[in-house]
Amino acid sequence: MGANQTASVISRLANLKHGKNMIYCPKCGAQNADQAKFCNNCASPLGATAAQSPQEPSQAQPPLPPQLQPGQKATLLDYMSHYTGLQYHWVRRFVAIVLDSIFVVVPVYVILSIMAWLTGGWVIFGGIMGIFLFLYSALFESAIGATVGKAILGLKVVSTKGKLEFSDTLIRNVTKIYPLLLLIEFVASLFLETTDAHQRFMDKIAKTTVVEKTA
Ligand SMILES: [Zn+2]
Repeated sequence: MGANQTASVISRLANLKHGKNMIYCPKCGAQNADQAKFCNNCASPLGATAAQSPQEPSQAQPPLPPQLQPGQKATLLDYMSHYTGLQYHWVRRFVAIVLDSIFVVVPVYVILSIMAWLTGGWVIFGGIMGIFLFLYSALFESAIGATVGKAILGLKVVSTKGKLEFSDTLIRNVTKIYPLLLLIEFVASLFLETTDAHQRFMDKIAKTTVVEKTA
């Protein structure tokens, strides 16, 4: 027996041993029979089905977990209890959510902490209070034509185009969401041309104005 023949026999034996008729799952690397349509470890589609249309998951179903009778419907838990690779898949999904939460929470926490430290908490306080001030103003003005503060001081919000709508009061109050926005808007209003000297810039957008309430 020559050296080449010996090598050939060894190679054939090796193929036999490692299962020439086996394929490896591209997802988890588990060995599967080459005609298998689904991985016996992780239930991922195998072979042509997966290769032809990787974007479109096959409509076919992985084989029922053996603890079920034929015709029974399998739940995710049924599949997970049999295909151990699936457990790994879902553990990774869970870890991914934990990681993503950390990726969101940590930077936001750091940024808010720095801002709170720089401003003594006023940035966050102003932002949160601004949302309440915005909603409060819009609701009260659309309901009774004034916030409590305006009513006390004899001021009333009216529409320049007819009936005052909730959408009008939402628009005119939107800059109250953040105190700095309201300040910028008011300063801008000071320098913009106007035909109604009782309007902020957002009053012009909302077609509203503020009048003195006459008895
Ligand atoms: Zn697999």
